[in-house]
Amino acid sequence: MRDPRYDILFEPVQIGPVTAKNRFYQVPHCNGGGYRDPSAAAAMRGAKAEGGWGVIFTEQCEMHHSSEITPFIELRLWEDKDIPMLRRMSEAMKGHGALAGIQLAYSGVNGPNLYTKEVPLAVSAQPIRTFTNDPVQARALDKTDIRDLRRWFVTAAKRSKLAGFDLICLYGAHGFGIFQHFLSRATNHRGDEYGGSLENRSRFAQEVVADIRDAVGDTMGLTMRVSLDESIGDLGFSNAEVREFIEMNRDLPDLWDLAQGTWEDCSGPSRFTEEASQQTLVQGIRELTDRPIVGVGRFTSPDVMAKMIRSGTLDFIGCARPSIADPFLPKKIEEGRIEDIRECIGCNICITGDMTMSISRCTQNPTFMEEWRKGWHPETMNVKGESRSVLVVGAGPAGLEATRALADRGYDVALAEAGTTLGGRVARERLLPGLSAWGRVVDYREYQIRQKPNVETYFDSALDAENILEFGFEHVCLATGAHWRRDGVARQHVVPFPTDAAMPLFTPDDLMDGTLPTGHVVVYDDDHYYMGGVLAELLVQKGCNVTLVTPAAHVSEWTLNTLEQHEIHRRLAKMGVTVELNRGVTAVGARHVETNCMFTDTRREMACDAVLLVSSRVEHNGVYKDLQAHKAAWADAGIKSVTLIGDANAPGPIAWATYAGHRYARELDAPDIGDALSFRREITELAVD
Ligand code: ADP
Ligand code: SF4
Repeated sequence: MRDPRYDILFEPVQIGPVTAKNRFYQVPHCNGGGYRDPSAAAAMRGAKAEGGWGVIFTEQCEMHHSSEITPFIELRLWEDKDIPMLRRMSEAMKGHGALAGIQLAYSGVNGPNLYTKEVPLAVSAQPIRTFTNDPVQARALDKTDIRDLRRWFVTAAKRSKLAGFDLICLYGAHGFGIFQHFLSRATNHRGDEYGGSLENRSRFAQEVVADIRDAVGDTMGLTMRVSLDESIGDLGFSNAEVREFIEMNRDLPDLWDLAQGTWEDCSGPSRFTEEASQQTLVQGIRELTDRPIVGVGRFTSPDVMAKMIRSGTLDFIGCARPSIADPFLPKKIEEGRIEDIRECIGCNICITGDMTMSISRCTQNPTFMEEWRKGWHPETMNVKGESRSVLVVGAGPAGLEATRALADRGYDVALAEAGTTLGGRVARERLLPGLSAWGRVVDYREYQIRQKPNVETYFDSALDAENILEFGFEHVCLATGAHWRRDGVARQHVVPFPTDAAMPLFTPDDLMDGTLPTGHVVVYDDDHYYMGGVLAELLVQKGCNVTLVTPAAHVSEWTLNTLEQHEIHRRLAKMGVTVELNRGVTAVGARHVETNCMFTDTRREMACDAVLLVSSRVEHNGVYKDLQAHKAAWADAGIKSVTLIGDANAPGPIAWATYAGHRYARELDAPDIGDALSFRREITELAVD
């Protein structure tokens, strides 16, 4: 059972009129589903309730139609009509004794109102500050607007109560919420009693808290989420000013929820940010207030969590990503199953669901946002089907997850790996600069598989179709991976382009195998995720002079979706990497590359000693194709199915591979659904015309 060292994490803590059963606090986090997929989001929160969280919040909920952040999909509480949807959420959250919280957001200068077409209202008249630089400006709230806004908050609070929530979080962090806009001199240029001194800038928060307390404060706890440091220099709401604000308003909310500066700062990826990285910013704040405080820091280690409480730094352990990667984290600590924790790897793939307005996924937890859509429970597999044995070929993330989940379901699994280690691409990529935490994808699954008596692992087993036909497994799952192309074919070039054999050409696989170029290396990145940037970093570390050429407008452009892009550019610039944006590579000569402008096609030659092609990958589907060619022999061999999954099927990020592995394990022996949709979805009901 539970290690007494962690008892402190299970103490109840009061938040105003309500009490949390323990100190595990799931802070608000997006999921890409929001108002479009409310049942999926509700079931996701429900899984966390079952996993033992004491406090569970929604993502940000747009509390009035005059402020919304289209195209991003969050929640909405604009009318009474929205209440049933939110009630479904609060009920799922409260299922196992957790407190249910709703985060009320008025986005002000952060909401372009592209959907409602309302003129945005902000603390001061300014251009809208979003990721997308929308060509829209906000009008400054006048006194009547401020009175209206206070009333809208009260209405939203009352609706939140009707929807069954125990807690309301007033959002003023990450640059996204109106409370921060009032508090920060960057967004508050007012000359009236709401602007100027910190006292004046605090006024709106004080008024709204008082109004809401009058309305629902007898039964609902009120939390305020502010950023520990706006991190935009002198003009912003600095850490010193945050401390002053909290001290000045010691008892304002029932709990202080302390986030970090921008969302990028707050959700720092493991590539650039350690666990508990906010410690210096949060240290000592607890002494400035009589209210409990919650802070975040990608906490996955119960020792670090207990230290945070014992040292008096925090009262609650705030988690977003760790609760996504493992919704059962508190329960596992409670049951003394620390080794079973599926630790977040800090890759921020979960955030891409929000940024791409799709639906979130998690590299470590393939069931995330599939709890309702597919009925996937994060800890329990569906019952075993009629077959007995499965051969999984390839121990990359896809093969490992398939093996783990199949074994959980009760199948006898043989895992055959050509190499001598588990992990496939992750075993290699975890050794690259900044990616060591990604190794948890392997570590978690390796440990789980080792506990299972029904898994046999075979190394040095590069199988071909003939071997597989001899074995006689009922099902064959090929997770044989992919390798990087050597001809630069990706997006700019859909067919190979001229390369001189005298120029040393490298692929990411070469570098990961330890074969390195020297001198001036051109990294041609037409992949656009992390690999080009990471390898530029590696090459500088190895003493090369590096120029990164990319047809995109940003280095590692897709990492805009993982909130890493700015930091990647900063890191490369600091390391002395020359970055050439909006340029492609048209030819590789013996001692140079020819680059072209993506807009004008103007060409330029650049001397170099080697070229690294980060282009696309080729799937290893040879064994699969051979087996398909011998389908007539399957019945004699006892084979019922042969399936290709993961990168071998279609290369993608690691999260796509763990998802493919999990899906294979879930769906084995399932009845054929023909042309039907493989997941549930919600459709907006047609209004009565
Ligand atoms: P994914 O991301 O889809 O899991 P990876 O490339 O990470 O793919 O992993 C594929 C794994 O499959 C590698 O460890 C590789 O050594 C192994 N593999 C590839 N072909 C074979 C084969 N024919 N027999 C056994 N293992 C194989
Ligand atoms: Fe953590 Fe990555 Fe999962 Fe997000 S997607 S919770 S960062 S492992």
